[in-house]
Formats: sequence, C-alpha cells, structure tokens
Amino acid sequence: MFLTISTTGTPESPATDLGFLLHKHPEKAQAFSTSYGTAHVLYPEADAGRCTAALLLEVDAVALVRRGKGKGRGGAPDAALAQYVNDRPYAASSLLAVALSGVFSSAMRGVCSARPELPAQARPLRIEVPALPARGGPDLVRNLFEPLGWTVTAEPVALDAEFPEWGDSRYVRLELESARLTVAEALRHLYVLLPVLDDAKHYWVSSDEVDKLLRAGEGWLPDHPEQKLITSRYLSRRWSLTREAMERLELVRLAEADDSEVEEIDNAVEAETEAEERPTPLAVQRRDAIIEALRTSGASRVLDLGCGQGQLVQALLKDVRFTEIVGVDVSMRALTIASRRLKLDRMGERQASRVQLFQGSLAYTDNRLKGYDAAVLSEVVEHLDLPRLPALEYAVFGSARPRTVLVTTPNVEYNVRWESLPAGHVRHGDHRFEWTRAEFRAWADAVAERHGYGVEFVPVGPDDPEVGPPTQMAVFEIKSNVNEKEAKAA
Ligand code: SAH
Repeated sequence: MFLTISTTGTPESPATDLGFLLHKHPEKAQAFSTSYGTAHVLYPEADAGRCTAALLLEVDAVALVRRGKGKGRGGAPDAALAQYVNDRPYAASSLLAVALSGVFSSAMRGVCSARPELPAQARPLRIEVPALPARGGPDLVRNLFEPLGWTVTAEPVALDAEFPEWGDSRYVRLELESARLTVAEALRHLYVLLPVLDDAKHYWVSSDEVDKLLRAGEGWLPDHPEQKLITSRYLSRRWSLTREAMERLELVRLAEADDSEVEEIDNAVEAETEAEERPTPLAVQRRDAIIEALRTSGASRVLDLGCGQGQLVQALLKDVRFTEIVGVDVSMRALTIASRRLKLDRMGERQASRVQLFQGSLAYTDNRLKGYDAAVLSEVVEHLDLPRLPALEYAVFGSARPRTVLVTTPNVEYNVRWESLPAGHVRHGDHRFEWTRAEFRAWADAVAERHGYGVEFVPVGPDDPEVGPPTQMAVFEIKSNVNEKEAKAA
C-alpha cells in the first residue's frame, strides 16, 4: 500500500522544504507502528529541484483480522478465508488514510513550528497512488478531485495484464497534479477521499467520525458538488450520521458566509470565536429541547423509545434527576452501538443501575414499558409505515401510558430551507413520511383526544416565519384530574 507526494523547487523555495512540511527529514527513512501494521516514510529523491516522499504501509493481515474481531465485526464463518485473503494489504484504502493522518498529523493541520510561514504556501504538488480501489471508476475519481483544483489522471488497472479481454479491475492508477494547493490541503483531500472511493471502511463508524470528517473537510467540503456522496460514503452510508453531518455542514456554511466580512483577525482569536459562535447542530438542539421538557414535567423515570444509538440516553445520564433511563429500539445493531457509546460494560455499579437498554418493537404492546413518568419518541414516528402508526399509538398512549409523552418529527415545510435537499425529497430514505405542521397537529390532537392527554406544540431549531422550525415537538401530558375523577366515580 503506497503513495508518493512530490514537489519541485526553485533556489528560493527548494523542493526539500517538503521535509519541513511533512515533519519528516528527507535523509532518514522512518518507521511508525500503527494498529494495522507498519508505516514507512522515505524519500526516493530529495534535492533542491525535486523531492518525493513515499508513504508505504505494510499491513499485518492477521492483526487486521484480530482487531476486526475484537471490535465485534467478525463476519460470517464462511467468509473466514476472505478475511485473510483480500485486497487490504496492497490497495490504497481507508487504512492508508488512517496511516496518513497518524504519520502526518501536524502536516494535515498545517502546523510547522520550524518554518511557520511554509504551510500556508501553495506549491507544485504531484501525488501518485498506484493502486486505488475506486468504486465508481475513473469518472467518479475525476468528479471528486477536479473541483478541488487537481488535474487528474485516473487510469483503470486491467484485471490481468496478460488477459486484456477480462476487462478492468476496480482499481485505478491515480495521479494528481496542482500548483494551487498547500500540502495540508492535499493531505486532507486524500484523508477523506481515499476511503470514500474505497467505500468499505474497515472500522466501526462512530459519531466522532462526523467530527473528523468536518475537521478534514474544512474549507472545501461545504462547497464540493459531490458533498452528499462524500459525506454518506465516508460515514459508510449510516444515514443518521450522514444527516447529522449534512446538517452541521449546512450550519458551517451559514457561519462562513456571515464571517466573510470579518477580515484580518488574529488566527487564534478567530479560531476561538468561530468555535463559540458556530450554531448548535439541530440534533443537539433537539436533545436540549427534549431534556428541558422532561425537566419541566418533573419526570425521573424515562423511556427513550426508538433510542437509536443512545445519544439521548447518554445526555440524560448526566443529570442525576433522571434516576431510571430505559432505551428501547427494534434494531439490535443500534443497541449494540448505544451500549458501546455508553460503555455499559465499564460503567460503575451506581451509574449502571440507572440505565437499561432492551430490544422491543413499538408496534406491539409491551408490559415492560408500563409505569414510567415519561416517554420520548425522538424522530421515530416517521420511520413507521402510516398503517402501523395506530399500533404504536396504542402501545404508547393506550398501554404504557406514561404521564408525559414527547414526540419529535421533521417539519416537511422546512425542507425547502435545506439547500442540499432536492425539491420534493424527504430528509432521509428511511422516512416513510414527513408531516407539515398542520398534519402533525391533526395527528397529535386526535391521539390526545382518544387517550385522555392534553397536548402542546414546541418548535425546535430556528422558527422560520414562513415555513416554521426544522423539527416539531408535541408535549403530551396525561389529564390526571380527569383520570382521578373517573377512578373515584368507578
Ligand atoms: N431517537 C433517536 C433515533 C431516531 S432514528 C434520535 O432521535 O436520534 C429512529 C429509530 O427508531 C431507529 O433507531 C429505529 O431502529 C427505531 N425504530 C423504528 N421503528 C421502530 C419500531 N417499530 N420499534 C422500535 N424502534 C423502532
């Protein structure tokens, strides 16, 4: 697994400056151990006129398999051989991207304490990757790199040079050239786009991948025409993460537009204020609104129905007033990720006694859900086919009957405000429907009426005067007075 970065130089700006930029001395061959093998950095050529750095990753296929297993991704038994005999050792995949960020982390951040002026300077760069797995072929390779200012050569590699009639493999030989980019930009492009082209991430995607993507994509991803494909492939098509990233990118883009008039601020100050002023992602605003409503209701024993990957459960655990938190989801996979996120196996006894995750379907009544103060259905109802909704309604409002029920769902009217969403599309492929404010109210009012609850509506996110907020929340409270009266009368 191999890639080279070359530059040319002039007497004022010698090519060997590449060594400073990469923080690796051109006269030394260095080796770094990574979790998948050894990464070598060496310079096949290094003089003032031309300098080439090579990154060679020697993958330990056995370590790769062991690590995969340790992380719970063993694979089916009949795939055992494929675990050892595969392209990972030589193809420039996500492993190479991970090595890149490990070995050249300061270079990727554009830091060079020895020569602080260097990282910001563009220089002639040439990158070669002899075997790049490219799902989507040479066309996609071009669509990804050209908008970033690269001149791209992507030649398909024949399956077998001796048998041209067998056609091309899924690999391309890639050459990128540009004189307009900095080394840091080049590394960040590769870090994101190599795994995107590989489209088979080797490790479990977790929500900090969103942060990594946004950090590496700063300055180029928000405006990339293939932003959506890049984001969803990078995050291995995990839609909830993809949506989070898309939402945050949208917000970053807005923040950048506002900031553009502010010039000449000291870098450090700028970075700080940017971090403070960046709007809160919608997912976080939603969680905050839910927690606020739960506090107002006085709930201490809470159900998170359709808890997904456990972000809300995690946030609730931080507040001691929530003494019992139960996450329920139909997806075992989501629950596995949730339990990993919460580090359930390493939690202290007291903390562990407050939290429980179990599998269940909201389309069926379930006695385990009875007797709680509050239930949250955050972005869940739109995942059920409309004809299944009455079953959920009965399971929650008829059978489980917590005092408080919070339901959030997208407001479809707001979709015109998401720039990246084609007209008439829902926000995610798994949404069976998305409601207008009026449709949501009609449903919620009818549910409240049928089951003896009162209901109020709370906007979440910026409440647009025309189309309303991106997320709508209904807060149901049981009409206890009515119930008590009825109970007495009985
Ligand atoms: N509440 C989380 C996750 C929303 S995604 C959040 O706000 O981020 C919707 C979740 O509902 C998914 O995890 C999905 O597995 C779950 N879900 C869909 N249908 C369900 C059903 N019938 N019973 C239980 N969970 C369901």
